[in-house]
Amino acid sequence: MVEVLRKRVGWWRSARWGLLAVAVLCAGLLRATLSFSNAYASPRTNERAVRKRTDYIILHTTEAEAGSALRKLSRNGEAHYCVDRSGRVYRIVNRTRVAYHCGTSMWMGTRNLDECSIGIEVVGYHDRALTLAQYKALRELVTLLQKLYGVKDANVMPHAQVAYGTPNRWHPKNHRGRKRCGMGYATPEVRDLLGLKERWLVDPDVKARRLVVGDDFLAKLLYAKRGAGLLPYKLPTAKAKTAQAKSAPAPKAAPAEAEQPRGGVIAKGRSAWDIARDAYNAASTLYIFPDGRRLTGDKIRDWESIVAGTRVELSDAGDGASAVQSLGTGQHPRQLVGDAATAADTWYIRPTGGRVQGSALTAAQLAALPAETKILVGYAQGGPVTSKRLPSQICPTRWDAPDTYYLLPGRPLRPASQVDMRRVPAGTYIFYRD
Ligand SMILES: [Zn+2]
Repeated sequence: MVEVLRKRVGWWRSARWGLLAVAVLCAGLLRATLSFSNAYASPRTNERAVRKRTDYIILHTTEAEAGSALRKLSRNGEAHYCVDRSGRVYRIVNRTRVAYHCGTSMWMGTRNLDECSIGIEVVGYHDRALTLAQYKALRELVTLLQKLYGVKDANVMPHAQVAYGTPNRWHPKNHRGRKRCGMGYATPEVRDLLGLKERWLVDPDVKARRLVVGDDFLAKLLYAKRGAGLLPYKLPTAKAKTAQAKSAPAPKAAPAEAEQPRGGVIAKGRSAWDIARDAYNAASTLYIFPDGRRLTGDKIRDWESIVAGTRVELSDAGDGASAVQSLGTGQHPRQLVGDAATAADTWYIRPTGGRVQGSALTAAQLAALPAETKILVGYAQGGPVTSKRLPSQICPTRWDAPDTYYLLPGRPLRPASQVDMRRVPAGTYIFYRD
């Protein structure tokens, strides 16, 4: 009797293993449903340094429709993957290399997370729900990458959680809340959809006082027990989808990918920063004044004079914001960058091309800096370039990053994207986030 039982148990055990094998096989087949495309593989891939470690997976929202988002991501090499609305996954930069997707970023005191993370862009907006197909594809892709690199659940985070801003006219200190990119991914409700069990309950950099909170709403959303109540959208459910499919007539054509201008109107208590975040001074941000005048963010010097009723239109909420601040007439650097004015990692570039470190200036020299002096906060200086020391040797992982700037002899400061890298003259200095 005992023997029979044992045999039965033995049979059940092997059957169980068999079932498990079938389940694993099914999971494998499911994974095969993840559809990849190389149509937007970035020409930048081979220029990029091989990534030494992978501790984080950073999730983004493109803040633009698929067409323009994919073209931009590919052109600049700004992500490893991009998931379109149907759930198709585009490979952009080879996953073994550095992609520029985080911009100014910090987690647990580590800066420049591009160097230790994978970046996934998802076509959509930070304040709208993604499609069910996107959540499903993202779940599969993230699981795959987590296994491959041993990234734990908590370290799959939205860009908004790790981005930070250096001092500017709105914030005198390094601050969290530079962007709201992908903020929903931090909420327990979205993490359920993504199969992520753990999450961060505090911001380690704010706790350690490396950063201050620059966006109260975001801080609340990122660490709230239940986040859905704070999200400005409802999450899709499988039920809702079938109900909708039954009742609504099928659209004749795919909805047009119209790029509607996003933004808002400046009012009392609602500044350019509240609307545009760090894109407030970007060339892609348009200010339409009540009298009809139009100015882009990079052309505005006198921020105090922006009246209520001015419309702010964001055409590109990516990382296209300029890291360079420009001194206005009669303005003291402290008004722009607070205490960072005299920091060792703040650099001033005079209109005549001279460069000086914040910590090297006396109070009188600081006050005497001329209008149109460019200011870079949180930067290291590399160089000079010589025939034997090329930019890629001076800063191997940042030499062509979107927030890296070049000072060619006798020329104004310009972003890396506007420099002909085949002929960078000797004597050029490079400013990069370190
Ligand atoms: Zn982002």
